[in-house]
Formats: sequence, C-alpha cells, structure tokens
Amino acid sequence: MTNTINYFIDGKRVTPTDGITCSDINPATGEVIAEVAMDEISAADAAIASAKSAFPEWRDTPVGARCQVLFKYKELLEQHFDELAQMVVSEHGKTLQEARGDVRRGIDCVEFACGAPSLMMGRTLPRIAVSSSFSRESDEGIPLDSSLERVPLGVCVGITPFNFPIMVPLWMWPIAIACGNTFVLKPSEKVSMCALREVELAAEAGLPDGVLNIVTGGKDMVNHLIKHNDVKAVSFVGSTPVAKYIYSTASQMGKRVQCMAGAKNIMIIMADANQDAAIEGVIGSSMGNSGQRCLAGSVAVVVGDAASWFVPKIVDAAKQIKVKAGDQAGCGMGPLIDQASVDRVTNAIENGIDSGAELLLDGRITEHSGEGFFVGPTVFDHVPPDSALAEEEIFGPVLSIMRVETLEDAIVVTNRSKYGNMAVMFTDSGYAASKFKDTAGAGMIGINVGVPAPMAVFPFCGWKESFFGTLHSNGEDAVRFYTEGRIIVSRWF
Ligand code: NAD
Repeated sequence: MTNTINYFIDGKRVTPTDGITCSDINPATGEVIAEVAMDEISAADAAIASAKSAFPEWRDTPVGARCQVLFKYKELLEQHFDELAQMVVSEHGKTLQEARGDVRRGIDCVEFACGAPSLMMGRTLPRIAVSSSFSRESDEGIPLDSSLERVPLGVCVGITPFNFPIMVPLWMWPIAIACGNTFVLKPSEKVSMCALREVELAAEAGLPDGVLNIVTGGKDMVNHLIKHNDVKAVSFVGSTPVAKYIYSTASQMGKRVQCMAGAKNIMIIMADANQDAAIEGVIGSSMGNSGQRCLAGSVAVVVGDAASWFVPKIVDAAKQIKVKAGDQAGCGMGPLIDQASVDRVTNAIENGIDSGAELLLDGRITEHSGEGFFVGPTVFDHVPPDSALAEEEIFGPVLSIMRVETLEDAIVVTNRSKYGNMAVMFTDSGYAASKFKDTAGAGMIGINVGVPAPMAVFPFCGWKESFFGTLHSNGEDAVRFYTEGRIIVSRWF
C-alpha cells in the first residue's frame, strides 16, 4: 500500500500490509491526503503483545521517572504546537484558532498527568486495630497497620472520535501511562494522521518501546481490541449507540470500561441576561467547531420576553460568520468532517422544515457549496418540543430555538432529554442560576458560559446517555479508572 498511515507498534512505525482501507480526506477541499488501514487484526495483536511485554518494566519504573518522560513530551508538544495545529486544520477542518485550542487543551492533560506522583499516592492508617499477643510473657496486643495503594492495571485501550483529534487521545493515554499502564490507541479513521504524530512525539520524548502503541481501523478493529484477553481497561469517546455497544460488550468480557458519549445540549436564555454575552456565548457554543462538539449548545430555550431581543440578534450574529477553509484569513467556521455529515445535517434541516419549525437562516446555501464539506450556520425558531430538531444530536451548525413562558418550563425542557452532558443558562439572576444549577439534569453546567468544558484537573462529567460507566475521563476520576486499589494489612512480632 502506498501513502497509507502507519501504525506505531513497539517503538517503530509499521506499514500496514493487508485488508481494506478508507480514505483520509481534507474536508475543506475533498482531497484524499492518505489511506487508512481498517481491519488488519494482526496489527492489533502485535500492539497488545508489545504493550503486554512492556508492562512489567514500566509498572516498576518509579512514577517520578515515568513523569520525566511526560515533562519532556510536554516540551515537544510546545515545540511542535504549530505543526500539530496545522495538521488538525487539514485533516479535521477546524479553523486555525479552534485547532490551536484542541492542541492547547491536550497539553493541559499532559500537564495534569505530570502530577501522577501526588495523584497516585495511597493512604495509611497505622494501628487500625490491635490483635491479641502470641507472646505468653506479655499481654500487650500487636498493632495492625493498614494502607491503601493505587496500582496500575496493565494494558489499556483507547478508542477516540474524530472531533478533537489531538485532545481526546490526550484525555486518556498520558494519565494511563503516568499511572504505570501501557496503552494501545485506536483513533478515529477520519483523523489518524494527527494521532500518529502525537504518539510519535511521545516516543521521541523517551517513552520506552511498547508503552504506547497505535493502530488504525474501524468497527472490526475495535471489536478485536475490546474483547482481547490481555486488555484490562477500555476508554471510549464517541457517539451514544457505539458507546452503549462498547460498554456492554467490554463489561461482559470483565474489562473496566468508561464511555463518554453523545449529547443534545440545552441553553436557557432568561430575559434579564446580559444580551451581548448571551449572543456571544450561544454563537460560540452552537457554531464553534462547526457544531461538531459534544459540548455544542444545540437548543436555545428562550424564556418569556427574551425572545424579543434574542431571536433577531442571534440570526444577525450567525449571518456574520464567514464559512471557509480553516486556514483562510477571516474564517469563522470550517467544514464538516465528511460528506456523510453534510448529508446528515442537510436531512436534519429538511426534517426540521417538515416538523413545522421556522427556518430563519439556511446553512445549506453557502458560497462554498460543492467544494469540500460545507454547511453554514443554520437557525430555526418555534421548534416543536417533540421534533428531532429538539431531541436528536445533529453534530452540525444548527441552532434550534424553543420558546417557553417560565424558568420552570425551561427546566422541564432541559430535563426531558435522554442526554445529560451539559446545560447552560444566561441570566443576571442569582436565584434563577441557583435553581437551574440544582435541578438541571446534566453533569456540566454553564452559568453565563456557553461551553462549560472542565479543565484537565476536573472529570468530564457527562450524565444519562452521555456517559456509560462510573469513573469519567480526566481529573481524579481518570487516576482511579487507570489504577486498582490494593489494601495491605500488616502486623509485626
Ligand atoms: P463514532 O461513535 O462514530 O466513532 C468513535 C470511535 O468509534 C471511532 O474510533 C470509530 O472508528 C469507532 N466506531 C465507529 N463505529 C463503530 C462501531 N459500530 N463499533 C465499534 N467502533 C466503532 O463517533 P464520531 O463520529 O467519531 O464522534 C462524534 C461523536 O462523539 C458525537 O456523538 C459526540 O457527541 C461524541 N463525543 C463525545 C464526547 C464526550 O466526552 N462525551 C467527546 C467528543 C465526542
């Protein structure tokens, strides 16, 4: 195969030799930039074998020494920052500014992982009990000491989506390896080039062979990885149907599993909100990354009189966004990832019209139509509460406006969703914000913030069908996910 994205196994680039491939496409131009091997199962076996054999030595490497590699890696990411951001623009289609955000938030995760020596610390409680003495001469009891250690699991697998090609893999493997595990990454087939570069730089930073491996592929590859006997834990980020499948399948195989999944995020706009901040926040949330974010605000629930200013201003602001290739000057929104996404979003717009919603801005008509995978900002008003526009994840730049009379009505709309990733409110009222925070059924809450993405020290806290598992990615949850607790009870005579 020529121009096929390599795997990285046992510290070396490995060229795929077998199986079907799919095209890796620059979404702004439609140009094929590489081929991606999809189902070479022997590569998954080789990657897992390499990770398994690297595990004992890496586990026994002092955590401080493991983190030294990550410090070096963070430096390399800074040095290669522009190269990585540019790669995200051409493989994913983000604007340059969004691509830089992807890399920067990824680096935050590496910085967090560098704290593993403190994060992994256990606990000790000396003299937790006293047992009877074995010595006839003394009736003094013998103290029992007890402690908890956190120990790594072994080979962990990560399966990642297309929409944050650098950051989402960095949610997983740096903290997993800092905790002493070894790792096999299977990135989205749509952005495997970015992931390969990310992994190669880790090897350059001094990561021993086999500690971090990458294979490409799709469904068959994933199935093999999540069922493999030598895999102890599976981290997944992607859509809800795939998350459900991976969670149930890998759990049944006895793996530890965390699946961060899809979303349908509500933003409530109160009449007393700071108008400029609300418009800026809603535009950034709904249209940023062309709507391809699990934290994309997709439905604006406008309360009472807020509609009188919100609706005209949001349409005006959406019209200002320049839709272009991500690295062109003045670009405010890049393309969608592929033609299937254009078709899905276009269908959602057509269904929205059929449902009776009022189309205020039609993104199907852009100056870029026909070249790359572009859909422009789209805004619907009077969206029926039981329509697909109101309930289903669109993953494109479509904002649906619903009008309600009261704060209570808005909270009811928020909580009707089967998803629970994020909910946002724009208001000037502490009472409304507090009531919203306490009653909205979502794990990430924004108050006058359009995208309440947790920084790397906090877990990425989706609820309901936005998450399957117990421990989320990132923060303290990730440290617990990638380690097992071990209790030691000891006494000395
Ligand atoms: P996707 O579910 O199509 O793909 C994700 C990964 O799963 C990819 O690596 C893909 O190769 C693999 N995959 C796809 N179909 C599969 C199947 N049938 N069996 C096994 N593996 C399969 O998701 P995507 O389109 O790449 O990403 C977008 C989705 O990810 C959205 O739903 C978005 O909300 C979600 N997402 C969630 C979070 C979060 O933290 N909750 C973050 C980012 C993206």
